[in-house]
Amino acid sequence: MCGIVGYAGSDRAAPILLEGLKKLEYRGYDSSGLAVVSGPEIKMVKTKGRLANLCRLTDDGKNLDGSVGIGHTRWATHGEPSDLNSHPHISPDGRFAVVHNGIIENYLELKEFLTARGFRFLSETDTEAVALLTEYYFSGDMIDTLQKVANKLRGSYALGVLFSQTPDAFYAVRKDSPLVVGLGKGANYIASDMPALLSRTRSFILLEDDEIALVGRNVVRVYDRNKEIVPKEPFEATWDESAAEKDGYPHFMLKEIHEQPKALQNTIKPHIKNGKIDLGAIKPTADYFKNIAGIDIVACGSAYHAGVVGKYFIEELARVPVGVDLASEFRYRRPITGESRLTVIISQSGETADTLAALREAKRAKSKTLAIVNVIGSSIAREADEVFYTLAGPEIAVATTKGYTTQLAALCLIGLYIADARGAVNTETYAGLAGDLLTLPDKVNCVLKENVGGLQYLSSVHHGATHAFFIGRGRDYAAAMEGSLKLKEISYIHAEAYAAGELKHGTISLIENGSLVVAVCTEPALAEKTLSNIREVKSRGAHVLALTANIGQKFAADADSLVVLPDVNPLLSPVLSAVALQLLGYYISAARGCDIDKPRNLAKSVTVE
Ligand code: GLU
Repeated sequence: MCGIVGYAGSDRAAPILLEGLKKLEYRGYDSSGLAVVSGPEIKMVKTKGRLANLCRLTDDGKNLDGSVGIGHTRWATHGEPSDLNSHPHISPDGRFAVVHNGIIENYLELKEFLTARGFRFLSETDTEAVALLTEYYFSGDMIDTLQKVANKLRGSYALGVLFSQTPDAFYAVRKDSPLVVGLGKGANYIASDMPALLSRTRSFILLEDDEIALVGRNVVRVYDRNKEIVPKEPFEATWDESAAEKDGYPHFMLKEIHEQPKALQNTIKPHIKNGKIDLGAIKPTADYFKNIAGIDIVACGSAYHAGVVGKYFIEELARVPVGVDLASEFRYRRPITGESRLTVIISQSGETADTLAALREAKRAKSKTLAIVNVIGSSIAREADEVFYTLAGPEIAVATTKGYTTQLAALCLIGLYIADARGAVNTETYAGLAGDLLTLPDKVNCVLKENVGGLQYLSSVHHGATHAFFIGRGRDYAAAMEGSLKLKEISYIHAEAYAAGELKHGTISLIENGSLVVAVCTEPALAEKTLSNIREVKSRGAHVLALTANIGQKFAADADSLVVLPDVNPLLSPVLSAVALQLLGYYISAARGCDIDKPRNLAKSVTVE
């Protein structure tokens, strides 16, 4: 959500800032802007709409002089997307420019405070309060000033701040919103995440909450809230620079769908050693898992759907009760948890605001917390007691694909480990599943090789649909939930997922001639039941596309179209169903000419509540 880039070096800053902002476009935005220190003053250009507008206004950055600057892509929370509300925001005296990611929750209070002191707001944003406060508190020392400003702010913020009188450096402040500092030679940077800077540096430091950084051409200094310098150990990013490129694919989403075999292999292989699950750095012993009374999985969006699959998997194998909660609900409902329960927190970015708050709630209630995240050093990874990293690599498309399937893999590994620790699984099932997990990347490869043509054809047939219903039972229902979200978020076709047996309790009234029903039915034990539900909707005129595995023949006579996935242990089938449903969503959206990587109104890393 929103992108921030900052540069201090000796080259022209504006083109470098634009290059960084382009790499952050995937996060979702509605306007953009740049400010640079140019001679004794700050120059600023900002505009509503796509980055191309900003490139045009600045002649690709060539008409802005200055080698220190900050850039921003805004995802509006306070005030409509407009030229005026775009960032940066400049103080009335013109000496300070601010870009901000997040929400200043007490901005009305600050507005009153500043207005009473003679300041006038030009925009409707919460961010402008930060620019005005910086001028108000300016003491001659920027670290001291920004400390005073930060003390006044409530909410979440990553800030980039320019000061016209430090032409060699800018400042960054962080609390509950992502921000990394990139270290170069004769140049240093900030960005909302690492892919924006991978073409310039691989060396990074992370800012903790409440830290303030001075980022200069040849120096980076980080201060804590007592204005003491904090020593920081840089780390090298292992992510590939090409992760931020499309590599010949028309969209990042399609590229990332095809990266799944590798992402799954990277996530699974290091955790299976000689047929045994090894959770690596996760400290609790088998004894801990043996004695837990229950597990709560907490997440948002697709990660929540991964949690639903995890529930089916863990309960069936480990026989321990698992609850799955939306983070935005969990955090406010005084959850019943504590030392005897494990809270599993799932977030691809590790920065999802609601999920981070839910993690803190669980910790406050003394539950042990285990995070499944993809971004190393992200807020959730740092605050959870234990972390399981999915090794999907950077995910750029807003609609998650490899992020989601690697979360499923992580939950299966953790679930199998817990099942073993609790003595709930026999040696044969354990060994079989460990082996099946290792061959899962090959099975995904088969889906990508064997099912693409069929799915592409079906997408061309169904791209005109206005509604779609996804049904399934058990794990297939969990897979249907994610399939439905995938389709609606990128194609804008209204889609709903229903437990197949539940459809007749209401939603079947919406089925009419030609309604598209996607039936996920890979569960051998439930196939007959789902088949009855297929007949129910067929007899009301629905067009049924069935997604099945080796039990496919059963459905051939009843479904209008059939997609048969490779054979796999049914416990792992949601991974293969997910890949097929991603392809369906992708190709339908492509046929509709949608902006697949950046669907309207959506942002990649949801860093606001
Ligand atoms: N709350 C700020 C605004 O609406 C910043 C939004 C963002 O994170 O882009 O301007």
